[in-house]
Amino acid sequence: MGTSSPAQRVLLGEDRSHRLTFLAGAAHHRCLGYQRPLPYSADRGKQSVNRQALDDLKQQIPLMGYLQAHDWHPARPLSRGRWMGLCPLHEDHKPSFLVDTNKDLFYCYGCGRGGDVIRFAEIYHQVKFPQAVALLRQWRGVQPSLLQEAARFYRMQLHRHSEAVAYLHQRGIRSWALIEFMRIGYAPGGCLRGGLTHLGYSLPALRQAGLVTGMGYDAYVRRIVFPLQGNLYGRSLSAAAPPHRFLPGAKGGLYGWQQVRQSPEVILVEGLFDYAVLWEAGFQNVTCSLGTHLNARQFRQLCDAPRTVYLTFDADANGSGQQAAERLARRLRDQGLAARMVSLPEGHDPNSFFMQGGDAPQFQSLLEAARP
Ligand SMILES: [Zn+2]
Repeated sequence: MGTSSPAQRVLLGEDRSHRLTFLAGAAHHRCLGYQRPLPYSADRGKQSVNRQALDDLKQQIPLMGYLQAHDWHPARPLSRGRWMGLCPLHEDHKPSFLVDTNKDLFYCYGCGRGGDVIRFAEIYHQVKFPQAVALLRQWRGVQPSLLQEAARFYRMQLHRHSEAVAYLHQRGIRSWALIEFMRIGYAPGGCLRGGLTHLGYSLPALRQAGLVTGMGYDAYVRRIVFPLQGNLYGRSLSAAAPPHRFLPGAKGGLYGWQQVRQSPEVILVEGLFDYAVLWEAGFQNVTCSLGTHLNARQFRQLCDAPRTVYLTFDADANGSGQQAAERLARRLRDQGLAARMVSLPEGHDPNSFFMQGGDAPQFQSLLEAARP
């Protein structure tokens, strides 16, 4: 942390006593980067961010609320308005993360990082300052109701587009119970904007959510849509388009985590179509990380209780899925979890395994044969 982030600068520049009060709880730390108390705009020239707007943003997003929305739980109170908990920014074993709700600041005694909600977003999402501000604005601005409304709209479209239903069939999603359970929809393109503006949502709000492009077109065209927490995943039907898309912002936590978190054994897959076929085959202790790279929140979720994780990533010919699984297995074992590697036949993912004749007893044997 050689240079101070603008967030900290303004924060510390605006009120030294406030900084000192905060640091009274973190006495010996030099890492908040307050050596240069400059205003936001001092070194950013044209990119300067209106300081009042940043103050407003921070006021609208209390740090504690943002942390809790990202699955952080305080472990114990320190004093009025000050809490300790596990650090969401590094793999923490005993609570070293201090949150001061009076000052809206955090500090970690483990990894030595601290600051305000913008600084937290920078580190947590691994983005630079302007992107962190953009993410927070988006987080504030995208009312859950807008995404829910979009998901509802897409679900209605699914029933009207036989090509979408045919695609789901071809990928092994055949029961309406599963479609309802996963709240699967379809984005034909060219109608979401009209549908939602008709319901009273503004075009800027749709743009901000990423549902509509800057040019005013629906962002998702010919995509199967799966609602996630705070996002929508879109799988393209067309081979000409990128297969996987998310709206801007985080992909959220593990898919369907609430349903499986009590389970002592969890099957982890990388794609929602894998998730779907396993669920359909009766394996309901399945969750999905939407890719082989788990974000910090997903990793924390997996580690939130002792359990066995069956890593069932794709058996790609180039071995990338298996390498990712090996790395993840090591990290999970470091956290005291049991991790087992499920070996699918080469070239298969769980979806193709079932689509090409695999059945539940066969998959069960793979689980039993999984390498510890
Ligand atoms: Zn930390």
